[in-house]
Amino acid sequence: MRIAVIGTGYVGLVTGTCFAETGNQVICVDIDQEKLAKLRAGTVTIYEPGLEVLFERNIKEQRLSFTDNLRQAVEHAQIIFLALPTPPQEDGSADLQYVLRVATDLAPLLNGYKVIVNKSTVPVGTADRVREAIAPLAQHAFDVVSNPEFLREGAAVEDFMKPERVVVGTRSARARALMEELYKPFVMSGNPIIFMDERSSELTKYAANSFLATKISFMNEVAQLCERVGADVDQVRRGIGTDSRIGKRFIFAGVGYGGSCFPKDVKALNYTAHEHNYQFRILESVLEVNRVQKDLLVSKVDAFFQHNLKGKRLALWGLAFKPNTDDIREAPALAIAADLIAAGAHITAFDPVAMPLVQRYHPELPITYAPGMYEATAGADALLIVTEWNEFRTPDFERLQTQLSHKALFDGRNIYEPDQVAGYGLYYASIGRAFIDGRS
Ligand code: NAD
Repeated sequence: MRIAVIGTGYVGLVTGTCFAETGNQVICVDIDQEKLAKLRAGTVTIYEPGLEVLFERNIKEQRLSFTDNLRQAVEHAQIIFLALPTPPQEDGSADLQYVLRVATDLAPLLNGYKVIVNKSTVPVGTADRVREAIAPLAQHAFDVVSNPEFLREGAAVEDFMKPERVVVGTRSARARALMEELYKPFVMSGNPIIFMDERSSELTKYAANSFLATKISFMNEVAQLCERVGADVDQVRRGIGTDSRIGKRFIFAGVGYGGSCFPKDVKALNYTAHEHNYQFRILESVLEVNRVQKDLLVSKVDAFFQHNLKGKRLALWGLAFKPNTDDIREAPALAIAADLIAAGAHITAFDPVAMPLVQRYHPELPITYAPGMYEATAGADALLIVTEWNEFRTPDFERLQTQLSHKALFDGRNIYEPDQVAGYGLYYASIGRAFIDGRS
């Protein structure tokens, strides 16, 4: 099939590449010339495991190309995907300006029947708004479909190629048939394509992300209680996670959720509820719990140094909002670094892939960037772990014990066993577990 993908960011690039991988002819559009130049030169613009191989193969096979020419892409395509940003506005609502502008721009370019698919996460009613934006300017028939994306950054290719489900919101039989044909190769193992109306589909995406954020916030509250009653949140997690009604995933306590999706999607759904005079009490609590949770690690560090962080040298492992991605949008590490810096500490950070992005987009943070994890800890007073990259999981604790002058480790992801760390003569604080002081 002939596909256009408008917006070549985390979702658009994966979507375009994976559709090309199943034999479709894909043209990706972006307005960011720097990004386009890299893509055209054969460079993948995001860190996403497994993407490069597919990207290179499909460019070589001439199934995948990149342009800033919207007309060329629209005229080429039977199905046009919108993978555009929907960032949060001041009031929490999703900003639809990118989606609606592209809808208006592409409308007069339609040269036959096309399906326009919203892959961006968009509020309920957006398919109708896109339809209303296109209709007065279009010379040809079209359908607007909602097809929210559920890929996880860090596992995006795997998730896209083998989705647990594909959700398609449309009441048009013609659009449904095309979407079914396009997605057939991705659901060969029997996972469903779930068809529904546009509004239900739009709400499904927000409900999914908000539910997952709720699981995280719930566990973070359990962690807060564990610290007060002398229980261990990881033992509680194991105790409840084996119950299939609860499930093992998304019940890890930590420094609060971040990333480009959960924070904005929870806020946007909460906004939608308010707009319709409904107080979504659980979501309000999720937002509040996450706000508080972000401060927890910093307050542990602050207490350890007796509320005097001035001049303290702190090493920070992990900047990306989660492992296996370079995405730093709403990354807890940024808020933690900013708070520590504001209190007078010096931060030396290491992240396997995200350092250049923090350097570029957060010049306001005077962070020193280290070439490796032990270069970050050399000469530091204490270490904070904020992103649970695999390479941080079995560190050389003996080396850390000699490097860290205060011999203290603050683990925002509970990746170590407290007794083990203390056994190396370190002070160890984590989330929802008692601190343990192994220093003699
Ligand atoms: P992104 O910021 O990485 O990418 C958006 C791209 O659109 C950018 O490259 C930007 O230059 C481009 N763009 C902006 N205006 C344009 C225009 N007029 N014409 C062409 N290109 C234009 O965003 P993303 O993370 O890929 O997210 C896109 C959407 O998908 C959002 O609604 C997001 O909520 C949703 N989503 C994201 C994820 C994720 O993990 N990142 C997962 C599911 C859904």
